[in-house]
Amino acid sequence: MHEKQLLLIPGPTPVPPSVLREHSRPMINHRGPEFKALMDEVTEGLKEIHKTEADCLILTTSGTGAMEAAVVNTLSPGDHVLAVVIGAFGDRFAKIAEAYGAKVERMDFEWGKCADVAQVAARLQADTDKSIKAVLFEQNETSTGVVNDVEGIAKAVREHGALCIVDAVSGLVAIDLKTDEWGVDIVASASQKAFMTPPGLGFVTMSERAWEAAKTAKMPKFYFDLAAAKRLAEKGQTPWTPALPQLFGLREGIRLIREEGLDNVFARHQRLGRMARAGARALGLKLLADETCASPAVTSIRAPEGLEAKALRKLALDKYGVVFAGGQGQLADSIFRIGHLGFVSETDVLTAITVLGAVLQEMGVTCDTGAALAATQSEM
Ligand SMILES: *Cc1c(COP(=O)(O)O)cnc(C)c1O
Repeated sequence: MHEKQLLLIPGPTPVPPSVLREHSRPMINHRGPEFKALMDEVTEGLKEIHKTEADCLILTTSGTGAMEAAVVNTLSPGDHVLAVVIGAFGDRFAKIAEAYGAKVERMDFEWGKCADVAQVAARLQADTDKSIKAVLFEQNETSTGVVNDVEGIAKAVREHGALCIVDAVSGLVAIDLKTDEWGVDIVASASQKAFMTPPGLGFVTMSERAWEAAKTAKMPKFYFDLAAAKRLAEKGQTPWTPALPQLFGLREGIRLIREEGLDNVFARHQRLGRMARAGARALGLKLLADETCASPAVTSIRAPEGLEAKALRKLALDKYGVVFAGGQGQLADSIFRIGHLGFVSETDVLTAITVLGAVLQEMGVTCDTGAALAATQSEM
């Protein structure tokens, strides 16, 4: 029964029925009054979620497109950029800047740990001639299930004066991000993670300082020209034909987030994260992320000694219809991940732990699923 699946990957995430229904609405004129009302409502919701008064632009693209837009609109070839890398997505951010000719200095941290704020601050303080133009980093590093101290890093970046550019694709909505209060210049995110909507839209916030940098940025751009997006947004339009079904769905996704209340959404993700970690530990499994920086959105788990993560995931899917994610990059073979962001409930995490216990036992690993469920439940 393959239609009955429990999708527990860190994006795309499950989509509520009311959002799916919105996707089947008839098309409207994207230069007409109904579209303007839609754009205005969605943009206002996005700004509220980002906790910003700055511009928030909507692009038809995946998260990577939003990251690329952030880079090409504010930097020039040859610019010195500091990329703080704690996993595969931080690595991607560095590569985007490199692809457009930035001089990228990487600051790598061990996968499974968050960036050391003091080390980032020390590097920036050492840059006395202010050659570093921008700092790129992740809010939530999805490949390892680790959250960075965005407030702490942003503070160090502010003191230096470089642009602070954050990839929040898998963290936004699940984890608090106070864009304006923390002084983040650009937040790049996307529709298919905690927004509970399908893939297809990217979001980019632009502070005054970011627009200032945009005036002299020489990296090539056309589709992702944010100045054009801003000009059209002021008229309630987009430069190019927007993904209308996605926007109908996003309006409903935002409505659901407001109905639950953003603080309650954050608390639910915290709870789901604690449940997943407690359950996995009680099954005798080792977690990749340090508890101090473990993500409320995704939990990365090491496969037991001598057992392939891939085989474990295959059995969970084939026999139980539960979809866990694999590892990425250097962790491809050694870990698997449980996504618990967006339209995910406590019941889903209890199911995930049940199935994980069953699969481990069937693969010859001794574990106590009952005890693991009790441990999971105790974090509810
Ligand atoms: C999912 C994700 C992205 C975006 O990936 P796309 O496939 O381009 O949507 C970027 N950064 C992080 C941290 C992510 O989790």
